[in-house]
Amino acid sequence: MTEDPRRELPSVDRLVRRIAEAAPALPAWAVREGARRALAEARAALARGGAPADPLAAGLAAAAALAEPRPRRVVNASGVVLHTNLGRAALPREVAAAVAAAAASYTALELDLESGARGERGAGVAELLRLLSGAEAALAVNNGAAAVLLALAALARGREVIVSRGELVEIGGSFRVPEILREAGVSLVEVGTTNRTHLSDYAAALGPRTGAILKVHRSNFELRGFVAEAPLPALVALARPAGVPVVEDLGSATLVDLREHGLPPESFAPARLATGVDLVCFSGDKLLGGPQAGIVLGAAERVRALRQSPLARALRLDKLSLAALDATLRLLLAGRERELPTLRMLLEPAEAVAERAAALAERLQKAAPRGLVVALEETRAPVGGGSLPGFELPSAAVALAAPAGAEALARALRRAAVPVIGRVSDARVLLDARTLLPGDESDVEAAVASLASGSLRGT
Ligand SMILES: *Cc1c(COP(=O)(O)O)cnc(C)c1O
Repeated sequence: MTEDPRRELPSVDRLVRRIAEAAPALPAWAVREGARRALAEARAALARGGAPADPLAAGLAAAAALAEPRPRRVVNASGVVLHTNLGRAALPREVAAAVAAAAASYTALELDLESGARGERGAGVAELLRLLSGAEAALAVNNGAAAVLLALAALARGREVIVSRGELVEIGGSFRVPEILREAGVSLVEVGTTNRTHLSDYAAALGPRTGAILKVHRSNFELRGFVAEAPLPALVALARPAGVPVVEDLGSATLVDLREHGLPPESFAPARLATGVDLVCFSGDKLLGGPQAGIVLGAAERVRALRQSPLARALRLDKLSLAALDATLRLLLAGRERELPTLRMLLEPAEAVAERAAALAERLQKAAPRGLVVALEETRAPVGGGSLPGFELPSAAVALAAPAGAEALARALRRAAVPVIGRVSDARVLLDARTLLPGDESDVEAAVASLASGSLRGT
């Protein structure tokens, strides 16, 4: 009779001791869970008739991964300024400090310090939003999707909402306009066609059951060719006599005028408000460059309806995000928008990016193990984050190539102590300088230096 190979595996306690000896700094809870997972995997491998991985190495890796705080800090070398998978906008230190201060203390979140009575959460950011935009009223909620959901539910629940067929979009993740309408308890009335919707289409659909007209920005794709859409001012002129509110989901917008820098006109929220639209909604962490939030600007009576909706409580912003949004808006009011990493990255001239890429290439050349080819390359970087489809920025990158291939190289860079996220193109990994934050270069250098030359070899 052959021995049960599972008997060869160490006990959990024994493996825990060995992992702790090899890596004394790891917390005990992570070591125990890492050991448990490594042994479970080894047993599963044996049960399949395969060879188990070394339990010590597997346990160490699992324990070390558990011990890392999450979400992990990473270097965004993808060139995509607003990368939803990388948490979109990074905040400047001054804003981060405001968050830390609010987090570690009590705050007058819902207290009126003058009267001592209950105050309104978010009254401070609402005031700053009004000052920046000229809007009659403002409200900040949890995110862009929440803003649209709340607007539709508060203004049109149980009634019809008219939307162009060309705007029934999916914005990645789980934001699909027809589904948001359903969740808001409104019925969708589609008008027009995929490529062309006219004012007369809206006019024909408008009736006593209409609760709102919704206009949605096609954030992540472009419609070109034989296309038509009803302009916002015309929609407002149509809806106003009927007492029907017009809501625009702008997706991504700014409160400082960047149109002269080549950003499309509809990205400037105050200009949209000037059309007379009842409400505009957009995200706090896209072009605005702040924390995750959903911003609603518009007519006082409409914003009041949103604030009084029972959903508002479920979608409200927490004190950390409020502190971050407040500090972000103060930078905008002070004309210091270029201190926001998002706007700095968007506005940095291509020559300045190229200079930083060249300096990085030089550093990486010195740090690179044998087998890694380092070159400098001009690139084009999309803005991302469902912002500005078709709008690309001239940029510059360090291109890395190795015989093992670009995917293997990209994976190895993601496994660095501070993971570096590049983009794979033409069998190389491009590390775009446009999206690097100050100081990121050292982490990129460390990641490249940590690449074992063995892992760069092809098979
Ligand atoms: C991004 C986007 C949303 C969702 O905003 P989140 O802040 O991600 O919730 C909704 N509508 C449009 C048009 C968008 O671009």
